[in-house]
Amino acid sequence: MCKDHNWINTAVRKIEADFQRSADTHLLKLDLPALDGIDIYLKDESTHPTGSLKHRLARSLFLYAICNGWIGPETTVIEASSGSTAVSEAYFARLLGLPFIAVMPKNTAKKKIEQIEFYGGRAHLVDHSAQIYDESRRLAQELNGHYMDQFTYAERATDWRGNNSIANAIFSQMKLEPHPEPQWIVMSPGTGGTSATIGRYIRYQKFNTKLCVADPENSVFFDAYHTNDPHLTCQQGSKIEGIGRPRVEPSFIAGVVDEMRKIPDAASVATAHWLSELLGRKVGASTGTNFYAVLQLACEMKSRGETGSIVTLLCDSGERYLDSYFDPNWVAENIGSLTPYLNQLKEIEQHGCSAPIC
Ligand SMILES: *Cc1c(COP(=O)(O)O)cnc(C)c1O
Repeated sequence: MCKDHNWINTAVRKIEADFQRSADTHLLKLDLPALDGIDIYLKDESTHPTGSLKHRLARSLFLYAICNGWIGPETTVIEASSGSTAVSEAYFARLLGLPFIAVMPKNTAKKKIEQIEFYGGRAHLVDHSAQIYDESRRLAQELNGHYMDQFTYAERATDWRGNNSIANAIFSQMKLEPHPEPQWIVMSPGTGGTSATIGRYIRYQKFNTKLCVADPENSVFFDAYHTNDPHLTCQQGSKIEGIGRPRVEPSFIAGVVDEMRKIPDAASVATAHWLSELLGRKVGASTGTNFYAVLQLACEMKSRGETGSIVTLLCDSGERYLDSYFDPNWVAENIGSLTPYLNQLKEIEQHGCSAPIC
């Protein structure tokens, strides 16, 4: 329990000063003339100092833990992560001069492990993604440290009503667009925290925008949403890094989700490749998951003769995944053929939604 106000004040000020030095991330407008009438936007979260949307979450989790007295000047910070959160938390731990240990599945992208170590953190690898929770709790006890527990606290550490959330940023950046209030915002769930923030903000602001959440294979969120069963688990870990979980995370708030879609992993990876070509730079696979759902929704809007806008997130850069999603051998071994999806995506790019996409 930290009651040292001097340390708390200094720690909060350091995090606030870091925020003050930061700019908001860009909202990119996509150029897809074949989808005429549907404007698609990507909030580019890859440009945060630590490379993903988890920069926002790590900032919120540290502020929450400091203000709750959970971490102090001597605390070792421990986190269960599939990688991105740990990179961002390692950054903030270093800013505060605290030791940091990330408990991650052993198949986590090497680039992420290198980045954690670059920021002075330590990677503690386990065999399966379902083991990260207990191992983090055990380590925290052993070292008298603090387990941050992003999967529990993501939804509540983020100030969703205020003017500094990703949801508020999206709506304010959309203000001068032809369709400023999006028909859909699409997000894929890891903690579920970003979806919770966006969904709550939409309701709080009385917008008519709907929230679509896109789940990968090897994840329980989709089934949990449809069965209302919070105890579902699955054995195999998600192959789409950053999203898809083996248990229903406490931060997943089903009540603010208007619709869920299950996206095949091959579609996610193919879309990440195709979108990377379109943008001229590589995006991660969860961005592919998001964008495949965006294209489904866009084509459904087209078929109903609707016009409007759809917003989604570019969650992280594909440069982190050169030895996985962007390695043809890895893809052939772990995901399978992308060709049918790549053909479908080219077709949409060139001729619009002639073929149904589902
Ligand atoms: C965490 C993460 C997500 C999902 O965001 P949540 O707010 O945790 O649901 C998507 N993509 C990537 C790359 C991530 O790291």
